Amino acid sequence: METIVFGSSSAGNGYLIKDGGHSLLLEAGISPKKITVDYKQVDGLLITHEHADHGKFAHDFIKRGAMDIYCSKGTAKALDLPKHRVQTVKSKVPFHVGKWFVLPFDVQHDAKEPVGYLIQTPSDKKVLFVTDTYYVKYQFKGVTHALVECNYSFDRLNERFINQEIDPNRYRRLLKSHFELENVEEFFKGLDKSRLEQIMLIHLSDANSDANYFKQRIQAVTGVPVDIAPVKAVR
Ligand SMILES: [Zn+2]
Ligand SMILES: [Zn+2]
Repeated sequence: METIVFGSSSAGNGYLIKDGGHSLLLEAGISPKKITVDYKQVDGLLITHEHADHGKFAHDFIKRGAMDIYCSKGTAKALDLPKHRVQTVKSKVPFHVGKWFVLPFDVQHDAKEPVGYLIQTPSDKKVLFVTDTYYVKYQFKGVTHALVECNYSFDRLNERFINQEIDPNRYRRLLKSHFELENVEEFFKGLDKSRLEQIMLIHLSDANSDANYFKQRIQAVTGVPVDIAPVKAVR
């Protein structure tokens, strides 16, 4: 199994999970013009919510005509997606995409109906994809690969707030919309790590995060190798 990152930040998100000859696209925040994908192998495109950094290019992917988009009803409506190309999904109702088996779950974010995905791959790996949420209320068993947002740290944010480098409204929004380091740590402490092989921290804020420090902290808590998703992938 391989994860390819096309972009992972508030400037645009796009990921490809490959397993054998099958792949799934995650998020439509990077233009299809900027990525190289063998669409014959792509079984579907999963989107978590409508914000531009996740859904801006959904229509462009549809124009490529290659695959169906999977997202919640609220997201489909907010993005005004054409019905014939969209399969709407519901929190806690699992579904198949080719040989993939996917469980969507609700997350806590300032969007219409945001979700995360627990994805069983064709070779029976279990990928947890969770981004843009300030809290995860579920626990998951048997995750092998975790792609989890680690957007900012309270320390860094408070320092910038005191130095008046961050707008108070933006500060308040962050607390109720994105995953903070200590909360990510707590989440991983509670996660069943019996099959966990790899963690990738995604969607780091450029101003309020510290990639190396975040990596060390999460590695210490989990004992599993931690990667940081490149903001912009070099390909
Ligand atoms: Zn985002
Ligand atoms: Zn968002």
